[in-house]
Parts: sequence; C-alpha cells; structure tokens
Amino acid sequence: MKDKIILAVSAHEDDLEFGCSGTISKWIKEGAIAYYLILTDGSRGSNIEGTKSRDLAKIRASEEQNAAKVLGVKEVFFGHFKDGELKDNDEVREKIVRIIRTIKPDIVITMDPKILYNAEFGYINHPDHIEAGKATMFSVFPYSRNLMSYPELLKEGLEPHKVKELYLVSFDRDGLNTFIDINDTLELKIEALKQHKSQYDNFENLKSHIMMMSEMVGRESRKYKYAEAFIKIQIRD
Ligand SMILES: [Zn+2]
Repeated sequence: MKDKIILAVSAHEDDLEFGCSGTISKWIKEGAIAYYLILTDGSRGSNIEGTKSRDLAKIRASEEQNAAKVLGVKEVFFGHFKDGELKDNDEVREKIVRIIRTIKPDIVITMDPKILYNAEFGYINHPDHIEAGKATMFSVFPYSRNLMSYPELLKEGLEPHKVKELYLVSFDRDGLNTFIDINDTLELKIEALKQHKSQYDNFENLKSHIMMMSEMVGRESRKYKYAEAFIKIQIRD
C-alpha cells in the first residue's frame, strides 16, 4: 500500500468509522495516504429535542476531524449537502469528480448502493447511504475519467483520472469478495468511533457491538479474528 492514494466517500460523519476505518488505518500504517469526503452536513443526526441543526453540523464536523486524526487520515473534505436529502445528481457528482481529479486516488471506497435492507440484522438502509454510493460509483466511472464530462473542471486544470479499484462497504453477505484483517487496527477503529460523541449514549454498548460485528466478519473470512468485508471491483480500462 506504499504511496497508494485512497479516497473514502460517505454520506455522514461516522459512516466510514463504522464501515471501513479498520482497513483505512491498516493501509495508512502500510504507507497509503488517505482522504475522506463526507457528502452531507450531518445536521439531522440527533434525536434530542431542541438540538439546533447548525450547531450539530459543526459538532459533527469537528468529531469527524478528530476521528480522522486518530486514524491518520490526511484530510477530510465536506460536501455540505443537506443531511437526509442527498441525491445522486449532477451537483453531487461534480463535487466527487472534483475531489477525485484533485487528489487522483488509486482506490475509492464507498457504500454499496444496492443495499435496501437486511432482514437478518433488522436493518433498513438510510436513503443518503444509497445515494452516496450511487453518486460515488458513477463519479468513479465514467465521469472522473471522461474528458467531456464537467468541462468547467477541465478549465480549472482538473484533468480526467482513472481510479483503478472501487471498494464497496456492504451489509449484505452476498457478493463479498474481499476480507481485510483488522486485528491490529480494531483498537484504532474503536477509538475513532469514540470521537463521535454526539452519536451515542453508551459507548460500551457500541464498542461491544463493533467487536461482535468484526468477529462475525472475521469468522466469515475463515482467516482472520477480526475483519472488515467489501465488494471489490477492479475497473477495466
Ligand atoms: Zn450514515
């Protein structure tokens, strides 16, 4: 992973910590340079009455900066799109293409856009996650590599760029083809999640949930004690 450039894109602050921060910190330890792009402003991520959206957006952005620091992520970009209203549209894609053409990642990680629900886990996916996954996938292919797409970016000197691999964080068990050993970085993952103080009441519960999930994925891998799982797409030229 030496000198590889990684871009991880999600809808909300904390999504990446849950889904792939064990992998990201492992790759950083191996010499990769990682960036985050958080598309929404996280301003609706609270069930406490009286919480002001603008205050929450600020708090969540600073929690994400702290989590990134724990993991060694070089920079966090924010899309500032409205939480709960994210759409896979031209504006969002342009933002993602802009970042891709600026930092030129080898690998992009995002959320699997085809996950609607998982009955086994009692999980219904957030619409922002699906839209973030779609917008990122289509920004990787074809828009960031297509000369004719977003001519305004080309005018700014942002040349087309070909991302080689797309990793999808998936909560579906079908189609997983890549397991990453996070034995040495699980502690960092937990420490990064701990930074999102506005998002949990009882950290010990969250921690045991993360340990349990990482162990379950580890068992699935048949190789590792703790793991994260992905659908990896190697993009043909
Ligand atoms: Zn989320």
